[in-house]
Amino acid sequence: MIVMKFGGTSVEDEKAIERAAQIVLRRLHERPVVVVSALAGVTDSLLAMSQAAAAGRIQEALKLLRPLRRRHLAVLDVLMMKAPAEPVRDDVRTLLDSVQDMLRGVAALGELTPRTTDHILCTGELLSSRIVSAAFAQHGIEAVLVDSRECIVTDANHTNAVPLFDWTDESLRQQLQPLLLAGRVPVMGGFLAATIDGIPTTLGRGGSDFSATIVGAALDAKRIEIWTDVGGMMTTDPRLCPSARRIDVIGFDEASELAYFGAKVLHPATLIPAVRKNIPVFVLNSRQPESKGTCIRARAPRSRTTFRAIAAKAGMKVVNVKSTRTLGANGFLRAVFEAFERHDCAADLVSTSEVSVSIVLNASHSIDGLLHDLAKLGEVDVEDRKAIICLVGKDISGQAGIAATVFDTIAAANINVHMISQGASEINIGFVIEEHDVPEAVRQLHQRFFETKPLSRPTRLRAISGGLGMQACTPRINARAEVG
Ligand code: ASP
Ligand code: MG
Repeated sequence: MIVMKFGGTSVEDEKAIERAAQIVLRRLHERPVVVVSALAGVTDSLLAMSQAAAAGRIQEALKLLRPLRRRHLAVLDVLMMKAPAEPVRDDVRTLLDSVQDMLRGVAALGELTPRTTDHILCTGELLSSRIVSAAFAQHGIEAVLVDSRECIVTDANHTNAVPLFDWTDESLRQQLQPLLLAGRVPVMGGFLAATIDGIPTTLGRGGSDFSATIVGAALDAKRIEIWTDVGGMMTTDPRLCPSARRIDVIGFDEASELAYFGAKVLHPATLIPAVRKNIPVFVLNSRQPESKGTCIRARAPRSRTTFRAIAAKAGMKVVNVKSTRTLGANGFLRAVFEAFERHDCAADLVSTSEVSVSIVLNASHSIDGLLHDLAKLGEVDVEDRKAIICLVGKDISGQAGIAATVFDTIAAANINVHMISQGASEINIGFVIEEHDVPEAVRQLHQRFFETKPLSRPTRLRAISGGLGMQACTPRINARAEVG
C-alpha cells in the first residue's frame, strides 16, 4: 500500500480536488490511503475566529465564519453535481454549526484553552475529509471516510500533541487493513487525532504531513507521497532566491535538518515515522503530477554541490545568560537548561562557554516566565529580530575549508554574524544574523555554493566543532543541542 497526502492548496477548491481525484485514480492499483489537510487557509481562519471570540469580539468571529461556510458549501455544490449531496451538506452544516456554538462558548467564558483550540481547529480537516471522500466517490473511487480521532492516539499536549505509537499503530491497522483488503480507499483528515479518552488533539501546525507518515509507518507503506503546490524540496526558498532549484534525492537526516531549520515544505516531525520503518517519502506537485519531485530516503547519492540546501528561519530571539559564577560551570548549564525545560521552550541553537550561554529560540514563545527564572542564575539579555541560516549537506563532514568559505561569503556581503554552530553530526553549519540580512545572505551563499564550481574536496580534516568547555568568543562557535 501507499499513503498519499494532499496539502491545503492541493484541495483548496473544486478544481484542486478534482485534480487530486485524477492523481489517486492513477494509483488505485497500489492501494492508497489518502490523508487530506483542511482547504487552504481554513486553519488560519479558524484560529483567527477563536482568538477574536476569546477577546470578546464574537460578532467579528461569526463574521469570519460566514465565508468559511459559503466556501465549503460552494465547493460541494460544484463537486456533487451528479449525486445527491444532501447527506454531505448536512454533515458540513453540522460541523460548522458546532464551530459557531464553540465560538459562543469561548466568548462567554472569555477564555480559549489549548483543548478548546483543538476542538475548533480540527473542524478544518473534518470538513475537508468529508468533502473529498464524497467527491472521490463521484469519480469512481471507492472512498471511505475514516475518522482520524478514532485511529491516531496522542498524549494530551493540546495543539502540539505527540502520538502514542503503540496504540496508534495497532488501531490504524485494525481500521484500515480490512478496508484496503476490500479494495476501498480510506480518506482521513490529517493534523487531527485524539487522546486515549477520545478528546480531539492536533499535531502542531502543518501536522498533516506527520499524519501521513504515521499512517505509512503503521501499515508498512511502500512509499509516502506528500502532494503540495511546489515542485519538491528546493536548494533554498525560491521567494528569497529565484535561482533555487529542485533537489532530486535527499537523505532523511538532511531533510530533517532542513525541516527543523525553516524549509516550510515539511512538518519537522514528518520523517520520524518514515525513518523508523525506512519508507521513502516523495514531495510532489499536484499541479504537475508527472514531474519528478523530491525523493527523501535513507541513502541519497553524494550531491554534486558541497551542500544539499540552505534554509533560513526568521523570527528568532537570542537569550544570553552570563553566570554569576555561584554555581560552577556544570551546575550553571544544568540550571539554565532545566529552566528551558520547565517553561517548555525548545532551543534551536546553543552556544556555551564556562561563564555564559547563548540560546536561540523562536520569538513566538512567550518567555517572561523563563526570563524570570534565568535572572536568578545570572545576567540575562535578549536580542530580537534574529534569523538562523543553516547550510545542510552530509558530504561536508571531514572536509576542511568549507566553514571558511561560508563565512568569507557572508563577510564579503558585509553581514555580521552573531553566533555560529555546527551540529555534532557534521551535516550542517548554522549561524545567526539579523533578520533583515536574510535575503542577501541566502542569495550570496546560493550563488557561491550552487551556482559556481563546487569546492574541491581536499584533505580530510575535522571541521570546526565545539565542546562545552570551549571558550566563547565573538562569534561563538559551538555544538547544537535541543532542549525541551
Ligand atoms: N491544516 C493544518 C494547518 O494548516 C494542518 C496541515 O495543513 O498540515 O496547519
Ligand atoms: Mg504543510
